[in-house]
Order: sequence, then structure tokens, then C-alpha cells
Amino acid sequence: MKDYYKILGVSPDASEEEIKKAYRKLAHKYHPDKKGGSEEKFKEINEAYQVLSDKEKRARYDMARKGGGNIPFGDFETFWKDYDASSFGFDIPDIEELFSDFFGFGGFGRRKRKESIRRGSDLEVELRMDLEEVMKDQKKTIRIYRYVTCPRCQGTGAEPGTNIKECYTCRGKGEVQQIKNTFFGTITRYTVCPTCKGEGYIPEKPCNVCKGEGRIQERQEIVIDIPAGVDSGQILKLKGLGDVGRKKGPAGDLYVKIIINPHPVFKRKGDDLYINVPVRFSQAILGDKLNIRNIDGENIELKIPAGTRAGEVFRIKNKGVPHFGSYGRGDLYVKIDVQIPKRLTKKQKELIKKLQAEGL
Ligand SMILES: [Zn+2]
Ligand SMILES: [Zn+2]
Repeated sequence: MKDYYKILGVSPDASEEEIKKAYRKLAHKYHPDKKGGSEEKFKEINEAYQVLSDKEKRARYDMARKGGGNIPFGDFETFWKDYDASSFGFDIPDIEELFSDFFGFGGFGRRKRKESIRRGSDLEVELRMDLEEVMKDQKKTIRIYRYVTCPRCQGTGAEPGTNIKECYTCRGKGEVQQIKNTFFGTITRYTVCPTCKGEGYIPEKPCNVCKGEGRIQERQEIVIDIPAGVDSGQILKLKGLGDVGRKKGPAGDLYVKIIINPHPVFKRKGDDLYINVPVRFSQAILGDKLNIRNIDGENIELKIPAGTRAGEVFRIKNKGVPHFGSYGRGDLYVKIDVQIPKRLTKKQKELIKKLQAEGL
């Protein structure tokens, strides 16, 4: 049984951080792309790290290491079967990857990168809506230009009836080697093959319609579901509705940015709605029942007590905007706007004067 702690040069009670540090140091030292590197040693270091960096695997390893014979054979065997280096599907990471990870930038694995080369672009569109529309789920049609699979070649990029052959520049690898001298020594870098753009193969005769791209741009109408309660600035992600990638590459995503037009009467803050309601002077003094037409057309009765002051705010629960992706609604806030008339009839003036005489 290999001593993973020894391989990484750490003590068996080393912290996660210490293990990570030791691994990075050794991985740089022994990276097979480097002068003085060793593939065998590098793999061993990675094997040790795969186990020791994973809490669960490390615990099981520790148990096996300490207990040895006490562990039932079945379990022990599974353990080694699970964690045999050959079953890791081991792929040597780029030294650049190791290094970029060191600074906290996640990198794509080399295998993943090949796919990411062909992935289509994400698209972004803006969608304007009225506040009224936010009150219910909506279906909206948007028009976009997007890359779709070429109907002539079905995305292969080859003229129908002709063959696809291995790229002569990279011999099917999709990437070419570059040797670079850096601070760490000589590094072999892989870059996308300029001939086949990373695919590893090229059509014998490119498709007449898409010129070998495997995709064409098309104006499309897409009907999308907009859930109730969306807010201005919110971005909805529609997976796979971006550009289709080159030569059957995976499609990007479509991002729909919602913009809600300002409403002349209702203001929105979060999921709450605000409205100013004009009331007559006498209504405010005596109190009254007000009929308020909400944004969704519902008539709501609001009782205001006698002596309601100008600017007073009443909250009507659960009559605001529906919560996005959940149940319930925000509230409706009604601000009382007491109307002071600019002009009075002769009779009104006389009556007000009488009120004044009464001390009002
Ligand atoms: Zn085509
Ligand atoms: Zn190539």
C-alpha cells in the first residue's frame, strides 16, 4: 500500500491547505512537460492528491492505513478498486492550468477545452414589458438572429456525398504544440490548430451553403415563457437557445434581459406596488370607503378613517406583484392625496367660512 503522505512529503495530520500547497509545489516540479519532469512521478503525486484532498476518500484511506487487517477484505478491495490510479480516467493537466488555479482562476481541462472551442456563442436580447404584464405568466415572442445547424450538411461542414478527413496540420489532435521558455523552465503549450480550428478533421469539400461552418445564421421567432413577477434588470437564461456551435458544436445560451416600462400610475419597489389616491377634503375629514382599481383590474375597497391626513399611507396586504418563482404577492401601498380645491363656488365658499367660524 502506497504512502500518500510520504509521496506528498506531508505529515499524516497535515491540514487541507498544507496538502494543497505540497501538491502544487510537487506538481510544478514534476510536470512532464517540464525539463526534469517525470510522468510517472507526476501521476503518483496526483494519485496521492486525489485521495488526500477529498475528505471522504482521505478518511477511508487513513482507516485502511492504520487498521490494515481489521478492515473487512471486501471493503478493502473496493477501496483500492475505487481509488486505483488507472480508474481515475487520469488526464494530465496543463501546467498553465495548475498555475492559473493557483491564483484562483478556474481553467478548462484539455478535454473540455476541445468542446468549448466549438460551443456556440451566448446571445443576449432585451425584452420590454409593461408592469401590467408582470402580474401574470406571459408568453412572449422574440425575434433573434442566431446560428442554427446547416440544413444542407446537417452540421458536418462537408458537401453532401464528400468525405471528412483528418486535419493534416495537427494530425487529428485539434491542437498544436508550442514550446515556450518561462520562469518555470521550458513549457510545452498546446494551442488550437489554425487549420481545423480545433476539430481535428476538415471536410474534403466544404459545404456550399455554410462554407464548412456547419451552421448558418437565421432569423428566428422564439416563444418564451415569462413567469409572473419578473423585475426590471432580471435576466432569464434559456439554455441551448444561443448560437449553435461550429460543426455540431453545442449551442450557447440565450439570455433575456427584462426591462419593465415605467407605469404612469403605479410604482414598483421589489414586489410592492405604490399608488397615490386623490380623496376629497371632506372624505379625509369624515372618513370613507374608497374604491381602488388595482393594476390587474381588481377593484379593492379601502376604508379610510375619519381624520385621515394628507400623505398617510395604507397597506393592503397581498395585492402587490406576484413573487417570482414562488407563491404569494407583495403588498399594495396606498398614499392618500387630499385634494385642496383651487376654486370654490360661491356656496362652497360660504360653507367653508362657516366651518372656519366653528374653528376648523
Ligand atoms: Zn453546410
Ligand atoms: Zn488541425
